[in-house]
Amino acid sequence: MLRSLSAASEDLSGKRVIVRCDLNVPLKDGEITDDGRIRASLPTIKRLSDAGAKVIVVSHLGRPEGAPDEKYSLAPVATRLEQLLGQPVVFAADTVGAQAKAATKLLDNGGVVLLENLRFNPGEASKDDAERQAFAEQLAAYGDLLVSNGFGVVHRKQASVYELAKLLPSYAGDLVELEVSVLERLTDNAERPYTVVLGGAKVSDKLGVIEHLLPRVDKIVIGGGMVFTVLAAQGHDVAGSLLETDQLEVVRNFFAQAAELGVEIVLPTDIVVASGFSADADHETVSVDQIANTRFGASGMGLDIGPESGSRFAEVVSSSKTVFWNGPMGVFEFANFASGTRAVAQALTEVQGLAVVGGGDSAAAVRALGFDEASFGHISTGGGASLEYLEGKSLPGLEVLND
Ligand code: ADP
Ligand code: MG
Repeated sequence: MLRSLSAASEDLSGKRVIVRCDLNVPLKDGEITDDGRIRASLPTIKRLSDAGAKVIVVSHLGRPEGAPDEKYSLAPVATRLEQLLGQPVVFAADTVGAQAKAATKLLDNGGVVLLENLRFNPGEASKDDAERQAFAEQLAAYGDLLVSNGFGVVHRKQASVYELAKLLPSYAGDLVELEVSVLERLTDNAERPYTVVLGGAKVSDKLGVIEHLLPRVDKIVIGGGMVFTVLAAQGHDVAGSLLETDQLEVVRNFFAQAAELGVEIVLPTDIVVASGFSADADHETVSVDQIANTRFGASGMGLDIGPESGSRFAEVVSSSKTVFWNGPMGVFEFANFASGTRAVAQALTEVQGLAVVGGGDSAAAVRALGFDEASFGHISTGGGASLEYLEGKSLPGLEVLND
């Protein structure tokens, strides 16, 4: 059983509480382009602040190499957090340095401080146990307890996620609790028909989930960049589209397994092929057996599923009772290649049952395409973490919160 903050009987007033959040938001020229992860972190931060705790928020952002790197600073996140929270957030421009020490010491009951990017310190993500332990001990000095609320990192054995949770009394925050409860519903006794929609860039990222979910689902719908490896495995020429040749054999095995289990694999019948990878690329919609026969020849790249596939996918999705969707159907970042993703997203909003969007880019896609988040059963904040959970792996950051 997960030890959760919501079930904890601790009196939080005056306690110094470290909250490990996942505030890893996409930034463009220093501007936050999608603040979903900040908003998802708010209920727990608010709850702690309202209870009179001294709230010390910690997070990572991007993948700096264990040293300060301006472009991965959490400073813009502090500003947005302050706006969304409606109360001051003190930003400390270091993690275990003088600023953080002072700011955490000066906190009033109910006050909130955000420390700089944890990954500016090499100890956070070090492969060396002792190095992580040492960093976790420095962090632990700030707090009386830890609330682990960064669902997007619970699959990582990192100092603030794992070692720190062993050093202090630790609880799962509301977000982690919610994400886990949704994932449980996707793994045990899901209502049928159960459909998994997979897309995104790489097949190799998603193979584990396919393997684990095959015996549990009725249909697997595949689009996005990964579909070209699947189509190639079926003998189609995919021209210049994304292709992972080393995965062809694995994909063929999945087909065999799916056939044995009676799982239907739904693939696109038409593809939008572009002259190249750009927003304004010339493009043509053709059936899957004509991808190499457009006017772009062997350099044509499939950047979206076609309209016929979009309608078919939407039908399959909206008639399901449980849907898990991970990975955009096309390069939704370019308006010309967003239709497939839009069709699937729309269908998820029509599901009479549980419809879950998992994956950082998929979540960003539904917001970028203007969908109301409330019309989905759940939008997960953790791509890798959800996938690993669904793969049946044990996640270090959850394991350490289990009694
Ligand atoms: P998520 O973060 O939701 O798990 P992924 O990271 O696996 O999703 O994949 C997202 C990326 O896949 C997007 O940036 C999108 O542009 C890209 N993508 C989708 N379809 C294609 C395609 N046909 N060709 C190239 N890239 C694609
Ligand atoms: Mg992604």
